[in-house]
Amino acid sequence: MDQTFRDHLATVDARGHRKWVFAQRPKGKWYSLRTYISWGFFILFFATPLIYVNGQPLFQFNIPQARFIVFSKVFWPQDFFIFGLTMVTFIVFIILFTAAFGRLFCGWVCPQTIFMEMLFRKVEYAILGDAPAQRLARSHPPTTGWLLRNGLKHVVFFLLSFIIANTFLAYIIGVKDLGRIITEPPGQHIGGLTSMFIFSGVFYAVYAFFREQACTVVCPYGRLQSVLLDRNSMIVAYDHKRGEPRTKFRKQKAADTGDCIDCEQCVKVCPTGIDIRNGTQMECVGCTACIDACNAMMAKTDRPADLIRYASENGISNHEPLRYTLRMKLYTSLLTVLVLILAGLLFSRKEVDATIMRTPGMLYQERGADSVSNLYTIKVANKTIRRVPLRLRLEGGEHGSVQVIGGTSIPIKQQEEGSGNFFIVLPKADILARKTAIRIGIYDNNKKIDEIRTNFLGPQPDQN
Ligand code: SF4
Ligand code: SF4
Repeated sequence: MDQTFRDHLATVDARGHRKWVFAQRPKGKWYSLRTYISWGFFILFFATPLIYVNGQPLFQFNIPQARFIVFSKVFWPQDFFIFGLTMVTFIVFIILFTAAFGRLFCGWVCPQTIFMEMLFRKVEYAILGDAPAQRLARSHPPTTGWLLRNGLKHVVFFLLSFIIANTFLAYIIGVKDLGRIITEPPGQHIGGLTSMFIFSGVFYAVYAFFREQACTVVCPYGRLQSVLLDRNSMIVAYDHKRGEPRTKFRKQKAADTGDCIDCEQCVKVCPTGIDIRNGTQMECVGCTACIDACNAMMAKTDRPADLIRYASENGISNHEPLRYTLRMKLYTSLLTVLVLILAGLLFSRKEVDATIMRTPGMLYQERGADSVSNLYTIKVANKTIRRVPLRLRLEGGEHGSVQVIGGTSIPIKQQEEGSGNFFIVLPKADILARKTAIRIGIYDNNKKIDEIRTNFLGPQPDQN
């Protein structure tokens, strides 16, 4: 097969100029299904920041403050290993998923594809018309009507970008803080307003101008396809065995010709401007528009459907079904192990995280004739959504006591870090070595939530 198409990008001409893609409006079973899925995506995307459970957002990813809320559970920098492991698990899942199902994610649920093809492209069709009308207008001097409609398109594009950017910001700072930025005097929220307009500008630039280049040039996932896919991966594929040699449509089909009638409908609908008949290409985002376009032509010419379909390269070449390869089995095992570790970490994650240190530079204090004390500092991260009155008790058989400085408990505000100081007092009779191992129970009121082991420093036993 002629491979020269691989020497250049479909959207760049011989002089290095951008070739604008005028993708024809797709129509068909797969496009309708993708449209329904995109409605579900839009509902989820725009409604999620509004959902609060017990006063907490369902999800929030506050990167500047390193505070993440997942299913209304607050994750702190102390939980970073859980976050890191989640990322690793996610990457392994992506690798496994891609090895098995190719770019199914890109075509069906990637936010870039959904916003571009299911929102901005549809707005463009509604205002400027289908691809032929857009192409015609570009190749002629613009009329006043065209300029007005094109201007309207850009206004709508910016408004949509502004809404998406605000929603995006709500995922970072929360819908309440976003509301404050919108309603309070601008002077109080210069940073927030700047972020809002930068995000809006970036989204507008991507959907109005950069478009498919985000998938074909920038997206790292797209760049990884060549190493993640193999001949058994499921992709949107042209059945060259059945389609070639392609010939223009004639009512009487010659016996030595394939089913492809070279109508180029599959190329015209492609949002990345490629010809799927050339084989697997990195630019294919698996959007299925070419399947619908080709099936429409097959129906019109009375030929079997699915000349372009979901299949693997081996499936097309050898008429093999999709296979679960050794590579997929290894990825699955790794994924299972990671998910189990992650579940264990999440299950054992502490809502109140405490560390206790003996106050540096201090030895012990004599307490009368028969007791000795040590001063300790406790640092606590309260990840719950309520104030925790922390109480401390000496565990085990010791006869000593805990004396919290400034009260009987250490109050830690919700979702904040706090600290306190306390003495442990031990009778000299219990001190049998210079260092005595002790256990301090940490209680949320009367409920024990943790136990920390530390050392108690005392005089040498022969000095007692
Ligand atoms: S080749 Fe087909 S599936 Fe791939 S991007 Fe183009 S239209 Fe979509
Ligand atoms: S739409 Fe189908 S028949 Fe037409 S050129 Fe593409 S593969 Fe061939």
